[in-house]
Amino acid sequence: MIRKLILPALLFAFVLSSCAPLLHAKQKFKALIIDGQNNHGVWPQTTQMMRKYLEETELFSVAIATTAKTGTDDSFHPEFKNFDVVISNYNGAAWPEATQQSFIEYLKTGGGFVVVHAANNSFGTWKEYNVAIGLGGWGGRNEKSGPYVYFDDQGKIVRDKSAGNGGHHGAQHPFLVTTRNSKHPITKGMPGQWLHEKDELYDMLRGPAENMTVLATAFASKERGGTGRHEPMIFTIEYGQGRVFHTPMGHGINSQQCVGFITTLQRGAEWAANGKVTQEIPSDFPNADEVSKRIGN
Ligand code: ZN
Repeated sequence: MIRKLILPALLFAFVLSSCAPLLHAKQKFKALIIDGQNNHGVWPQTTQMMRKYLEETELFSVAIATTAKTGTDDSFHPEFKNFDVVISNYNGAAWPEATQQSFIEYLKTGGGFVVVHAANNSFGTWKEYNVAIGLGGWGGRNEKSGPYVYFDDQGKIVRDKSAGNGGHHGAQHPFLVTTRNSKHPITKGMPGQWLHEKDELYDMLRGPAENMTVLATAFASKERGGTGRHEPMIFTIEYGQGRVFHTPMGHGINSQQCVGFITTLQRGAEWAANGKVTQEIPSDFPNADEVSKRIGN
């Protein structure tokens, strides 16, 4: 009787073990980082840092598309539709018309997009890009671009249509990031407040701000040259079938070494790629009292 059971048991074990490699060979998300022009001269390094952060999760395979150094690059035509998520480290000249159209088509049909820091300075007059990113700064943005968006001291979101330019920041400093939505997959499990490494705290961003969800803010204190408002720091935009994750953080090397920045980039990119987040909050995530950096990245 026992011998009769051995063969089926062995067969079962064999089938299980031969399936295991298939289970492990999970398809990675295809990510594309776009760069080539940026008023932040460290862009070649920050692109490599972000590439490494995404690859470390083992969830993404990462490609990079780089434009010519100046002007509209007529040969810049990435196949956006072949990717699950596009990450912009680009702040420069307009893309060719056909590239703009294929990017918007990609987003509207369910693509993912990640906006990091100065990527929200680009394309001030490209209407659909601004709808997709929610808020932006500089690039000629003003009251015609949409309202200023911030939180008041009672935690209520304000859409301020008053006249003025979009985009400003005070002196760089470490600042507290306050979670405003702990149910969203990107911010779920993050502390209520955490200290971000010295960075530019973008304020006075303005834009269409349609279908936008603010997940975290930072207080731009007047003593540090800011607005005295709670400014959006982590937010998402639903654009057609597409998902956009936007963080104004990440000015330079040190701010991109912050574990808070790394974690929000990794989780935000996964969410943008498929609407879910499977990554845990790492044990070295910053708390409200201390910044936490991964040096050597
Ligand atoms: Zn900057």
